[in-house]
Amino acid sequence: MKFAICGGTGFIGGALARYLEQSGDEVVLISRTASGGGGRERWKTVSWDDLDADLRTLEGLDAIVNLAGESINQRWSDKAKRRILQSRLDTTEKLARLVAGLEHKPKVVVNGSAIGIYGTSETEVYDESRPVRASDFLSGVVESWEKAADAIPVERIVKLRTGLVLGKEGGALPVMALPYKLFAGGRVGSGKQWMSWIHVYDIARLIRYCIERPEMSGPVNATAPNPVTNDSFGRALAAALHRPHWFPVPGFVFRAVFGEMSELLLAGQQVLPKSAVEHGFEFQYPTVDKALQSIYGHGSH
Ligand code: NDP
Repeated sequence: MKFAICGGTGFIGGALARYLEQSGDEVVLISRTASGGGGRERWKTVSWDDLDADLRTLEGLDAIVNLAGESINQRWSDKAKRRILQSRLDTTEKLARLVAGLEHKPKVVVNGSAIGIYGTSETEVYDESRPVRASDFLSGVVESWEKAADAIPVERIVKLRTGLVLGKEGGALPVMALPYKLFAGGRVGSGKQWMSWIHVYDIARLIRYCIERPEMSGPVNATAPNPVTNDSFGRALAAALHRPHWFPVPGFVFRAVFGEMSELLLAGQQVLPKSAVEHGFEFQYPTVDKALQSIYGHGSH
């Protein structure tokens, strides 16, 4: 099969490109720059601007996966907030325009989304049937991003409501692991907040799985079936790194250092992958112990 990945130079997109390549698929990356470097020379890369001039690269694709957007792992100044929202809306709107111009359109687009759309709670459990509520900055961004995806003129759109993606090469895990590596790891805030996570290899597998199944569309939670509290996550991380879990960081300290973005770790949501499980997807890393041991131990991913 032939796929294009917008934001394929990033953490999840890179893992997906490698997984698809191993599966014998052809991959094209859509990026802000078409120049090589950073490993992207392995794949054909076209820039968004190139596509304005020549759409042929996108003709006859089986699927497009859109993960492009400004990183949320930065202090959320007013300017950064605008970039975080606008980058997602602009790229998704541009993708919709490009697809509209294709003679042979892909049947499916998997568009990025995030579990932040459900809001945060220590008691609720969220699957795809739960109504979404824009209650804070992040849930508002994700809700707008999902709405923008509806304008992409294809038969099927999968909205990949992504949890905390675990891998060595990006996302939040390297930052979370640092204090443990320095023997200063511990729970953050109360430690009772939920963390709904997924191994990066499983999200790559899940994306391809969704593409292959015409019956999967709309929201799909990309989270492992066993979310954990922040305290349990920290214990599993400590065990995988052979370090102690003992040095709690009070919420107010975390807020002082990271500002509003600290809510990403101080508040969470318990999310279950109902759609993936009901459609028969099997997680290779269903528990956080297994996932973290594969990342920091002798696992293959
Ligand atoms: P990365 O930040 O690693 O990659 C995102 C890619 O988007 C970049 O490689 C870049 O590609 C492109 N990009 C960056 N900034 C902009 C911008 N201002 N305008 C347009 N494009 C931009 O993200 P991840 O791979 O970690 O995540 C992919 C998506 O999934 C993101 O949208 C993220 O919000 C979402 N997500 C990720 C989670 C995680 O745990 N990692 C959790 C929940 C959601 P290029 O330079 O080639 O243009």
